[in-house]
Amino acid sequence: MTDARAWTARTTPLVPPVYHAVTYGLDDKSYEDIVNGGLNETWYGRFSNPTVTAAAEPIRRWEGTAAGLLTASGMAAIATTLVTLLRAGDRVVAARAVYGDTRELLTRDLPALGITVDLVDGHDVDGWRAALAAGPVALAYGETLANPTLRLLDIAAVAELAHAAGARLVVDNTFATPYAVRPAALGADVVVESATKFLSGHSDLLAGAVLSDVDTIREVQRRLVTFGGCLDPAAAYLLWRSLQTFEVRLARQTTSAARLAAALAERDDVVRVLHPTRPDHPQHELAAAMMPRGTAMLAVEVAGGDRRALAVLRELRLFTEATSLGGVESLASTPFNSSHFSLSPADRAAAGIGPGTLRLSVGLEDPDALLDDMAAALDATRDR
Ligand SMILES: *Cc1c(COP(=O)(O)O)cnc(C)c1O
Repeated sequence: MTDARAWTARTTPLVPPVYHAVTYGLDDKSYEDIVNGGLNETWYGRFSNPTVTAAAEPIRRWEGTAAGLLTASGMAAIATTLVTLLRAGDRVVAARAVYGDTRELLTRDLPALGITVDLVDGHDVDGWRAALAAGPVALAYGETLANPTLRLLDIAAVAELAHAAGARLVVDNTFATPYAVRPAALGADVVVESATKFLSGHSDLLAGAVLSDVDTIREVQRRLVTFGGCLDPAAAYLLWRSLQTFEVRLARQTTSAARLAAALAERDDVVRVLHPTRPDHPQHELAAAMMPRGTAMLAVEVAGGDRRALAVLRELRLFTEATSLGGVESLASTPFNSSHFSLSPADRAAAGIGPGTLRLSVGLEDPDALLDDMAAALDATRDR
């Protein structure tokens, strides 16, 4: 028989213990007490886990919401949230250029549940205004920063329009992170994000987060219990640990990215650098006001088109060609053959992704070395 009291430590650890336990002694509580109790009552692992709760807290604090929870992945956070907030017959207005699997959820899975989804250009406030006014609408959905164009969602403006139309605004803050923007402070009702990217930052776990008011988080948590997308405590511990260095990682990564953007923009074989800190970013003023700390993501359009971009990728030594983003290691990818391969070149151009676009996620390496690596790869491929 198990004597749980024997290993219930009465010490003060400086880091959260990893509670692998799925079930817990009820002590004097009844199931009714637990079900009616707080969000963090511990009795069965799918409902709540102390390690997972510990890892949610720093994210909740950074996002500045009253409550928050963690999920098994970013998609679990997004799907659970949307299915919680929507009913058959509802209409959603969403940004067109969202994360690929979110787009799949919006354009295939939600319509299959009887939900209509209208798409708009996320950076176009007039487009939002028209679509939100076109009929009853339950929810507006966008991403703070679009991939890979790094166009901004004007969260304050779209929140005001959504609220005037009687809709809630849900914002995916994965790319920008709460280091740069707090969507809730700008009017977003719910913030969702993939903690797999910058928040965990080491490319070694999948996790998601939902942040909102207490009532909304209770509702989402109820669905998380029935859908089963809870986060594993071991991953939660790794996330908690990574969050201890979140701000210093982001400070270094965003500064390095801005430097790279400035240096690459000087080259005659670079057509365009897409980064919010650049004066030629189409929303430079909004970016300066909304997210002055910038972002560690950038896109570079090299002269010579996609063939040259691919050649540059193959020459890079410090940047690894891989999908995902936000890790301590710098990554590079070409949207034409990865995130946006299903679009024709014309559709990609219409979406703001010109030929020769390289997407970079800037890591913690020496920024001079990263710049040298890019410069060497560009020099080596001038004629390709
Ligand atoms: C990666 C990502 C997701 C999905 O997150 P997972 O943790 O992979 O499920 C959602 N939105 C954005 C913007 C992402 O980059």
